[in-house]
Amino acid sequence: MKELVGLCSQCGKEVFCLDGFFSGIVTEDKKILCFECDEEIKKTRRLASL
Ligand SMILES: [Zn+2]
Repeated sequence: MKELVGLCSQCGKEVFCLDGFFSGIVTEDKKILCFECDEEIKKTRRLASL
């Protein structure tokens, strides 16, 4: 079963829930992000903290 959860708040890509597995993340402030953008943000944060 594939269910549309929403659009990635970063790139606008559709984020789905596949058989209970979410193809993205929801941030603390309830924004939806796809895995690609989540990775990008993590990388940016890691660089910013150095
Ligand atoms: Zn995205």
